[in-house]
Amino acid sequence: MSALNMQSPEVIFAIEKVRQAALIADSIQQEMAGQSMTKNDRSPVTVADFAAQAIVGAGLAGKFPGDALVGEESAAPLRTPEGQETLKKITEYVRRGIPSATPDQICAWIDKGLGEPKGRYWVMDPIDGTKGFLRGDQYAVALALIENGEVLLGVLGCPNLTEVKSPDPKGPGSLVLGIRGQGSWWQPLKSKGEWKQLKVSGQSASKETVLLRSFEACHTDSPRMTQIIQTMGIQKAPILMDSLAKYSLVASGTADLLIRLRAACSADEGEYIWDQASGVVIVEEAGGKVTDLNGKKLDFTAGRTLNRNRGVLISNGKLHESALKAIQALKEGV
Ligand code: AMP
Ligand code: MG
Repeated sequence: MSALNMQSPEVIFAIEKVRQAALIADSIQQEMAGQSMTKNDRSPVTVADFAAQAIVGAGLAGKFPGDALVGEESAAPLRTPEGQETLKKITEYVRRGIPSATPDQICAWIDKGLGEPKGRYWVMDPIDGTKGFLRGDQYAVALALIENGEVLLGVLGCPNLTEVKSPDPKGPGSLVLGIRGQGSWWQPLKSKGEWKQLKVSGQSASKETVLLRSFEACHTDSPRMTQIIQTMGIQKAPILMDSLAKYSLVASGTADLLIRLRAACSADEGEYIWDQASGVVIVEEAGGKVTDLNGKKLDFTAGRTLNRNRGVLISNGKLHESALKAIQALKEGV
């Protein structure tokens, strides 16, 4: 495929569909997550997850029917008697974007996400940062296009993010875009407006590093993270934030470093391709660097997980080597 640019059908499609899915997710977060619920009720994020994947699956079926989609969700639970109530709610929200959608069509669109991650494929995390979504905080709708292991295009719809800068949960929303060879850009999610280019920070002093960390303590290995912070001599307070929106803060220069260290208590085993793909091209095209914790390029040809890599290191480029050294100096290894 020839190189992509702002006018490519793939880019126009990805922007439009991520925006549509993110606006529906935003309505669900405001309308459902605001209702009185028990603390453990995950139904708002379940509805948003399926609705966002259905919107993108439907769009792909219409526009690029030959392309595979690798998504986090499958419609199997919606085809059971217990899933009917949820499917009804999903249908209600999908119809705000596609008025004629039927429950059967919605299940088929969601199941487009069972595609094989081979050759050219799209990868989607319909709601990344589910804990943030439920807290009324940051989350992202993430879509990327991969060809022969190279992430060509990444889009993040972040409905609560302010100008790709502030982690303040009440933000008006940002849409973030990375196109291989064309740079990284953002525009307001709702009011659109002009695209502004993103550029990583020039920070090279370890002690001045602004580190991004998961809001959820269980998503990182805190003892190892503390060792890395000490070895690098980082003195600044970190920014705590949910989801792939963290990648966009490295791209905008608001933060300098993000280290994905698997926690022992984390329920999920693998590092899924949809949890990283769109962020990779957004950071690299803003001038930053993404590798695993051994300095190796992320390998998107290994299936639904990054099983040929260990962890992820995301930086402004200038701090990459010193972070890698600090990781390699970990007493217990990585
Ligand atoms: P967080 O960035 O903490 O909001 O987590 C968002 C998503 O990233 C979730 O889907 C997690 O499964 C995934 N995740 C969390 N921690 C890690 C990690 N250390 N490495 C790779 N993925 C992670
Ligand atoms: Mg995720």
